[in-house]
Amino acid sequence: MIVRKNVSLSSLTTLRVGGPARFLAECVTTDDVREALTFARERELPWNVLGEGSNVLALDEGFEGVVLAIRIPGITVQERDAGVLLSAGAGVSWDALVKDAALRGLWGLENLAGIPGTAGAAPVQNIGAYGTEVKDTLYEVHAIDADTGEVKVVRNESCGFGYRESRFKKERNLIIAGVSFLLRKDGEPQLEYKDLAAAVAEGAEHGTPEAIGNMVRTIRARKFPDLKLVGTAGSFFKNPTISPDSYGALQERYADIPGYPNEQGVKIPLAFVLDRALGLRGYAEGNVSLFAQQPLVLVAEEGATAGEVDAFADRIAARVQDEIGINIEREVQMFPIRNIS
Ligand code: NAP
Repeated sequence: MIVRKNVSLSSLTTLRVGGPARFLAECVTTDDVREALTFARERELPWNVLGEGSNVLALDEGFEGVVLAIRIPGITVQERDAGVLLSAGAGVSWDALVKDAALRGLWGLENLAGIPGTAGAAPVQNIGAYGTEVKDTLYEVHAIDADTGEVKVVRNESCGFGYRESRFKKERNLIIAGVSFLLRKDGEPQLEYKDLAAAVAEGAEHGTPEAIGNMVRTIRARKFPDLKLVGTAGSFFKNPTISPDSYGALQERYADIPGYPNEQGVKIPLAFVLDRALGLRGYAEGNVSLFAQQPLVLVAEEGATAGEVDAFADRIAARVQDEIGINIEREVQMFPIRNIS
């Protein structure tokens, strides 16, 4: 295990803000993770886990503790009666796993192409896109229990999945070391979402998981900023679900507001509210702005601080509350999430 000292969190997160972490432990095996936990305990320091840092806002004061950077590699496959089990180390890049599945002709992950982050982070917020979520194909998670050092096998039904939710968000002592997906050789394309249906109508290839993955990446590249070029963590807020009555009231003001009924009410695209109702597309204050092509995405220019990003996001949420009456939640999490010792 390699341990580095005083590593800037801005270099470890895609928003590119945040102060120094006192230690960074690069963990490429489960034993490394255990060693890093011991390292933290021996120094009575808190620890926190980071993957590719694509969904976190790191504090300007940094982290006076040990960051466990989970870099566990490797992809394996196993034939099963019900399909093919594709397993990955938690440090594998999510999109690399999606591409690997597609190259093997396996269906199930293709609509999730192009989402940043690691495979190990994917179940934590149950990433989803274009009608598919991790929970639809996830078989099991291998997680190291930080309290005992033992590996726990958590089957899909025990993951507590919800919309961008799982038990791993709350039980921070479970450090994901590996994930497995049960995928099919004979899947069906899922192309109901407007953007996908429009691409198909324009002639995009969609007969294989690989073709659909490429189509999704092309669509995402048009809407989402390139993480290599700007500081961003993708969608900063979750799309809210509101009551059918509130949705009806909004329809009276904005006749064409989309709405997708679910078990809790009606899910609405926050981008519509920010853009059409509040006129905030491309809105900027100082070094922080809402991305013009997709106002759900917050962009931090070079020189931005975490405090600026945090205050800007609070002001946007307050405007949505004050002017539209909807309480919105962040998808991006603060780092450190909670000091664990
Ligand atoms: P979009 O396709 O414009 O959709 C906006 C919102 O409308 C989303 O909440 C989406 O629900 C919902 N929606 C659209 N069509 C729907 C349908 N046919 N049935 C049910 N709900 C529908 O969103 P976007 O901002 O361009 O993002 C594209 C996709 O990537 C979306 O699915 C989005 O959720 C996903 N995404 C995921 C993450 C993540 O997992 N962290 C980050 C960024 C974007 P859903 O959210 O349930 O899809």
